[in-house]
Amino acid sequence: MIRDALFWHKENDRIRCRLCPHQCLVSEGKSGICSVRVNNGGMLQTENYGEITSMAVDPIEKKPLYHFKPGKNILSVGTFGCNLSCSFCQNYSIAHFRSRSEYLPAEQLAASITALDQSGNIGIAFTYNEPAVWFEYVFDTAKGLKEAFPELCIVLVSNGYIEVEPLETLLPYVDAMNIDLKSMAPQYYKEICGGSLQPVLRTIETAQSKCHVEITTLLVNGMNDSEKEINEIAAYLSSLDKDIPLHLSRYYPSYKMTRPATDVNVMKRTAEIAKEYLNYVYLGNIPGLDNSTYCKVCNERLIHRAGFAVKVLMDEAICRNCLTPVPIRL
Ligand code: SF4
Repeated sequence: MIRDALFWHKENDRIRCRLCPHQCLVSEGKSGICSVRVNNGGMLQTENYGEITSMAVDPIEKKPLYHFKPGKNILSVGTFGCNLSCSFCQNYSIAHFRSRSEYLPAEQLAASITALDQSGNIGIAFTYNEPAVWFEYVFDTAKGLKEAFPELCIVLVSNGYIEVEPLETLLPYVDAMNIDLKSMAPQYYKEICGGSLQPVLRTIETAQSKCHVEITTLLVNGMNDSEKEINEIAAYLSSLDKDIPLHLSRYYPSYKMTRPATDVNVMKRTAEIAKEYLNYVYLGNIPGLDNSTYCKVCNERLIHRAGFAVKVLMDEAICRNCLTPVPIRL
């Protein structure tokens, strides 16, 4: 569905899009880097409004969010388009190609979640591709849902590549975000992801003051899995809050990246390094590992995780052994 876009202005005979830090200058008939925002007759329009390519009820742990409503499910939706171009993209078929989609009005998506809520669904996650690139639909749905049913949750799984104004417009309706921090090296963002680091850090810092935030770093074999790199990532996050959960996810060959999967022993070593800075570090994309949550003070197990099977071992967000408050939203 084509809709008028937000966050742009005219510059002579072209349009400057201000939704994400690319700030594309779009000529008549052309699209920006994300391929879904188009200059149609001097107006910026979005081509993916309500166009759903993927929809499923997922465990919240799959986003991944481990400290937000553990053990619950969430309706997860995505469209096509992305504003980064990571060589290793795990969702390239919808991020970089115009996949088959079906239009679902925002009100209908909100209505389907309220029906699902009776079966323990906590809300809607915008995921699979970058939520920012269908900002208008995400905003309409999130605002509509939160105004009608404040107890339901809105989750964004994002690369963090969004300008401040749209982010701050959306955040009042967002409960939790998982944000990718792909590297602390500006060169990595530039050469591997087609973006830049600073706007992502700004998004993490802005979001962290307004909603629940967890971070994912995909560790790519020989690219960003060095001890220096993980030290920098973990030190940065701990400077914000030592309780931010960090998910270190294992890379497998995908899209344009053909190097072998990241070594599991390297993953384990990076997790140990990150734990020197942060209280909650998890490994992802490695079957069979213990990914339980333990009390940061007495090491009591608080949440048992085996794959996506989750057992919450506390009634309130307090360690039942030493009574330390636990930064988890039950
Ligand atoms: S949202 Fe798309 S068109 Fe707008 S600045 Fe970003 S990449 Fe360019």
